[in-house]
Amino acid sequence: MEPGNEVSAFGWVKTRRDSKGLSFVQLSDGSTFNDLQVIVEAGVLDEATLKKLTTGACVRFDGLIVESPAAGQAVELKASGVEVFGEADPATYPLQKKGASFEFLREIAHLRVRGNTFGAVYRVRNRLSYAVHNFFQARGFQYVHTPIVTTSDAEGAGAMFYVSTNLGHDEKGYTLKNPNPAEDFFGKPAFLTVSGQLEAETLAMGLTNVYTFGPTFRAENSSTSRHLAEFWMIEPEMAFCSLEGDMNLAEEFLKEVINDALENCGADLDFFNKRIEPTLLETLTHVVNSPFERLTYTEAIKILENSGENFEYPVAWGTDLQSEHERWLTEVKVGRPVILTDYPKEIKAFYMRQNEDGKTVRAMDVLAPRIGEIIGGSQREERLDVLEARIEEMGLPKEAYWWYLDLRRFGSAPHAGFGLGFERLIMYVTGMKNIRDVIPYYRVPGNADF
Ligand code: ATP
Ligand code: MN
Repeated sequence: MEPGNEVSAFGWVKTRRDSKGLSFVQLSDGSTFNDLQVIVEAGVLDEATLKKLTTGACVRFDGLIVESPAAGQAVELKASGVEVFGEADPATYPLQKKGASFEFLREIAHLRVRGNTFGAVYRVRNRLSYAVHNFFQARGFQYVHTPIVTTSDAEGAGAMFYVSTNLGHDEKGYTLKNPNPAEDFFGKPAFLTVSGQLEAETLAMGLTNVYTFGPTFRAENSSTSRHLAEFWMIEPEMAFCSLEGDMNLAEEFLKEVINDALENCGADLDFFNKRIEPTLLETLTHVVNSPFERLTYTEAIKILENSGENFEYPVAWGTDLQSEHERWLTEVKVGRPVILTDYPKEIKAFYMRQNEDGKTVRAMDVLAPRIGEIIGGSQREERLDVLEARIEEMGLPKEAYWWYLDLRRFGSAPHAGFGLGFERLIMYVTGMKNIRDVIPYYRVPGNADF
């Protein structure tokens, strides 16, 4: 957009302001944070057309790019004509005022993309998706697609949604046709996946380094600012990898994708820093440039016990850390991300590799300031006898894991991986406080609208 070029600019009107015979229109097509300022001089458009240029209207302006005399933009468009594709009646268009609350904007999630905040969130989301693929592809990882519908209900990561065609309809509404899952679509109970990990492990035992990046579902009946019922998860899985390698990859991964956002989403992040989280740029730069702290769970418990803090949930060896503990460790104690390792086996999944002490497993959680847990991972148990014993000890149905155990029966290899909730990463990078505001359409108990 060099001065002197004749152009056509398509987009939606953000605002129009009239002053001394001139109209100033802020036009956005969502491609960048910055709007295009369009100047409409008196007499260029007839009164009736000018009236249609209201907030939300969709238009094409034709005109000349000129240097802008005002601060805020280098160039502007001097309009010579306009086509209005779609008007937006100011009396009824819901997205009128600046400063509408995020709660209100969730009710008009189909329109909120047109505001500054959500345009910026979705652009950062896009860039981070690209950075995720770049990170793994540059290291030779294969992108694999694990199933979304699964009949293995035993991954243990959370409550599952039931998938069924067992729904009829009569004049009163929906009815359940047949209570027997054996006669349902898949011939047995089927669910939406809570994690692609177990299937990703099978693919790593042949492709060596793989990753998934796809939707994941958890029917967690709690409404927090960090949980969705449908979210996107990134799960690398690596053969010939120990917990150290896993932690190194997680740290490199976070640093690289955050740095990518800093380099490529400058205007959007400046906005978040100004309007949403005043320490954002400082923290992100700090995270990229400093090593993560690494502590064992046992060390962390000692630190928490001696902290002198009055936590709502008491701390004791053997209990799971609550969000308040995780946040205190990473925000107050350390001031940057912390990786905790070697958790008690009782509070972690059956597939994590057991340590020699018989009490702890090779688990790791990456905790980040403001968010708490952002990554959960582990070295996996590759020894058939130890894994079988653990499955039995936990009272899990061993037969259901026949294919997972086969990996340990035939050509087993030490391996490790982790899961990262993509929306938690976006919260971290944008400073947005509620996970419902970093995905276009959020699903939580009681809401799957749009
Ligand atoms: P939390 O304790 O925060 O519920 P979790 O221990 O259930 O997490 P994992 O099963 O280890 O989490 O899942 C891996 C990652 O997926 C987590 O580190 C987190 O980033 C993300 N995650 C988990 N549950 C959700 C959810 N309901 N909504 C969004 N992201 C989630
Ligand atoms: Mn959970």
